[in-house]
Amino acid sequence: MSASGHKGQYLEILNRFIGRTKFRANTNNPRYGQVFAGNNETRVPIELPLRCRCGHVHGVANEVAPSTGFRLVCYCKDCQAFAHFLERPDVLDAAGGTDIFQMPTGRVKLAAGTDAVRCVQFSSKVFRWYANCCRTPIGNIAAGPRFPLVGLIHSFMSHEADDHSRDRVLGLPLCRIFERSAVGPLPPNAAPPPSLAVFALRGSRLLGWWLRGLGRPTPFFDDFTKAPLSPPQWLTSRERKHWQSTELEDEG
Ligand SMILES: [Zn+2]
Ligand SMILES: [Zn+2]
Repeated sequence: MSASGHKGQYLEILNRFIGRTKFRANTNNPRYGQVFAGNNETRVPIELPLRCRCGHVHGVANEVAPSTGFRLVCYCKDCQAFAHFLERPDVLDAAGGTDIFQMPTGRVKLAAGTDAVRCVQFSSKVFRWYANCCRTPIGNIAAGPRFPLVGLIHSFMSHEADDHSRDRVLGLPLCRIFERSAVGPLPPNAAPPPSLAVFALRGSRLLGWWLRGLGRPTPFFDDFTKAPLSPPQWLTSRERKHWQSTELEDEG
């Protein structure tokens, strides 16, 4: 059997698995059930306009719906350091959380302004992309072109243009991560803590994207040379310490 034949077979098994999996409500956290209930509504995927604050960098995210991505709120030190590095603390919630929608990289297109797109690294694992024209965070990806996922940051999404509310388009956040790095009390309507079911859901979506080749083409790497769109800026340890007070811990 060919490699693509194998992939098709895996995909069919995966789809059956997802179809059968029932996510039970967590009785310790009533909101957890609500999140799944709310996100299980079938919503037609849309083309979500992407835009930096000044409009120089813009593009589109295709097929965006609660079921085609994974929304989470990350409280890790590096996501906070990234916002402070860009002098955009407004991107963070009151407890230092970043609202992120993880989706297949191949569904994100940058139509204009790529000359202003820059990359910074706070750790060896993650490239953090931003629009240098107006210091707008764009998103986070693994430090290499193979991982099929981009964590788009809400600041680069244009929900106003078509009166799309973030919750309606992306669904509610499915979980929060690294809450021990939160800088204040979490809001009463904070996303639930991660659970096994949520990680299983994320894992199965990620596997599906990989099997279907949805990570390519990526707007952040040259398809041929595999070079990043812009050379990543490595901060000196003094600079890193300035933006983050403790050890690296990263996921978003
Ligand atoms: Zn801009
Ligand atoms: Zn993070």
